[in-house]
Amino acid sequence: MSTSYQVTDGVAVITLDNPPVNGFGQSTRAGVVDGIAKANADSAVQAIVITGAGKVFCGGADIREFGTAKMAAEPSFHTAITAVEQSGKPVVAAIHGVAMGGGLELALGCHYRLVAPGTQIALPEVNIGIVPGAGGTQRLPRVLGVETALQMITTGASVPSEKLAKAPGQKLFDKLVDGDLLAAAIAFAKDVAAVRPLPSVRQLSVAAPADAELFAKTRADLAKTRKNLEAPQRCVDCVEASTRLDLDAGLAYEQDVFAKLVTSDQARALRHAFFGERAASKIPDVPDNTPLRDIKKVAVIGAGTMGGGITMCFLNAGIPVTLLEMKPDAIDRGVGIIRKNYEAQVAKGKLAQEKYEQRMSLLTTTLSYDDIAQADMVIEAVFEDMGVKSQVFTKLDSIMKPGAILASNTSTLDVDKIAEVTKRPADVVGLHFFSPANVMRLLEVVRSKHTAKDVMATVMAVAKKIKKVAVVSGVCDGFIGNRMFEQYVRQGFFLVEEGATVQQVDKAAEAFGWAMGPFRVGDLAGNDIGYAIRKRRKIEQPDVIYSPVGDAICELGRFGQKVGKGWYDYEAGKREPVPSAEVQACIDKVRADKGITPRAISDDEIVQRLVLAMVNEGAKILEEGIASKASDIDMVYLTGYGFPVYRGGPMLYADMIGLPKVVELMKGYAANPNGDPAFWTPAPLLAKLAAEGKTFTGGKA
Ligand code: NAD
Repeated sequence: MSTSYQVTDGVAVITLDNPPVNGFGQSTRAGVVDGIAKANADSAVQAIVITGAGKVFCGGADIREFGTAKMAAEPSFHTAITAVEQSGKPVVAAIHGVAMGGGLELALGCHYRLVAPGTQIALPEVNIGIVPGAGGTQRLPRVLGVETALQMITTGASVPSEKLAKAPGQKLFDKLVDGDLLAAAIAFAKDVAAVRPLPSVRQLSVAAPADAELFAKTRADLAKTRKNLEAPQRCVDCVEASTRLDLDAGLAYEQDVFAKLVTSDQARALRHAFFGERAASKIPDVPDNTPLRDIKKVAVIGAGTMGGGITMCFLNAGIPVTLLEMKPDAIDRGVGIIRKNYEAQVAKGKLAQEKYEQRMSLLTTTLSYDDIAQADMVIEAVFEDMGVKSQVFTKLDSIMKPGAILASNTSTLDVDKIAEVTKRPADVVGLHFFSPANVMRLLEVVRSKHTAKDVMATVMAVAKKIKKVAVVSGVCDGFIGNRMFEQYVRQGFFLVEEGATVQQVDKAAEAFGWAMGPFRVGDLAGNDIGYAIRKRRKIEQPDVIYSPVGDAICELGRFGQKVGKGWYDYEAGKREPVPSAEVQACIDKVRADKGITPRAISDDEIVQRLVLAMVNEGAKILEEGIASKASDIDMVYLTGYGFPVYRGGPMLYADMIGLPKVVELMKGYAANPNGDPAFWTPAPLLAKLAAEGKTFTGGKA
């Protein structure tokens, strides 16, 4: 059993003991039920305390049980919490560190609750596409009021215990205990041992919200902030139900909603994202106990767009940075942008002035390599040019202390070749940040064939410190993210060539859930980037066919928002895309040149072709070992490319369509009058998995 039971001075102490976070798994639940029964049967016991071993009370459901029979096995959450609530002897929860999800729901079943300051209190279920399923939506409004409970349940945000304990009228905590919590809980339990009837959250009622429109307004807000997500809306339904139903009817209502959501596609996708993020930090051939290099000081080369953002990531994490540039004015410009970014955060109240100053005090600038020689890790973010990068790495090789990690932020160059410039290729790794680097969560860690395992383990740990989701990619053109995105954009061009409009493609992609369609992204990032890449590819891979529409608009100088025209027109100073007659004329000309009679293309076909174009490339990436698992590919897309999180990423999306169906759709696209059979030849891995009835992500087909 993952609990212990001990009687101290007439008080039975049940300790949840299921590392790492005392998850409320089946054996922990059984331990609680047994402990309550034992204590009630023992005449020497007057009262009961439930506490957690180690640093936390209880982090909620045991995630190792997700998707297994154990999750719903008896004693269920309800059985365990009911046993606590119906105990004839008082049960006091002693809560410290973390009380989340099922952990908080367990505490809400207790008669009394004592809490240590600094405890994180949350019902985070909404983040995995469900509602709290063990009474949270009915009991939390009873103790905190409908407004606070609604906020917590719909966002899943954690709130510090002292903030909740100090809220007027709150009934969540009986006492905030600064000091020995368990001793205080035992003393408290003895004090209340004779109290009858025992207090219970069950007896409390929920007052209607002061604002009669609260639920309607919250639904409308969530429809914007958590667009297309089902669970936040259902959380509102449940909390609203608590205002009109008694506890048992409310619990039944919550259970019904929970049961429907837990098997939904959105919940599956969000669970996949949740586990995918944890799995991404594991590298199959790099053991967890690999010794790490100590990274206390970092240097960044180049104070441009990326160098500045990367520097901020480290300053934010309290790691000192020396920023190196070629000229003083480049330093001034780079540091000026960093300051401006922080000042904007201070002005918005998101960053304390004092913290801003603290962060800036960690920044040193220099024009001399001598000043960075002792750094533990250096990240190069200079121009994307092999000649320039070679010079920088040769210099780094000659001056950096032994054991320093030499990283490059290159987006397209061969990290193997960069490593080979040095005499210490094992210390070289790619760290591909995304712009703006201080905001975007994704970090592609590019593992060259030379990179040492301890360098990989170290950069994964550093990534965690700077709050990035690190995904390992092998060396290839575009790594995981851009290599697949290239196919998505390429397919977007074919779609307009065949008959869709630029606006239709973007709108269909946006309705699917992308933040922006491919053409709006092109205009934002600059169409000249893809133009240059295509020029190079046409030489390197002459057999890969592109629609000429992309090049045609660039030949008209339509590089995007920065020049006021791209796939769309832009009025001066505005970012609103306006359909362009010049672009349409360009497309018409391409159609005429190729003899294409435009046809109507459905939004469904557009979305599927865009996503399946990426999926086919993803299958190749998996097969080549560039990504070690499908969930890594999905994490790249969820954290770096705005793929809708509730769809779980392109590879899970394909799994949910069913791989045999994906293959069939591709065959259909290849047979279109203007379809490209080469483009739509299923990658061998995709064809194989489809034939075997398997999936990319290993889940059910
Ligand atoms: P940028 O032009 O904004 O900045 C480059 C900076 O490097 C300039 O300030 C320049 O003065 C400095 N520099 C050039 N040569 C130098 C040298 N020898 N020593 C010291 N400083 C030098 O470029 P950027 O957009 O920040 O891109 C930098 C790198 O990051 C490139 O490799 C690029 O491919 C990669 N990258 C860019 C993005 C993006 O969206 N901009 C995204 C991911 C990766």
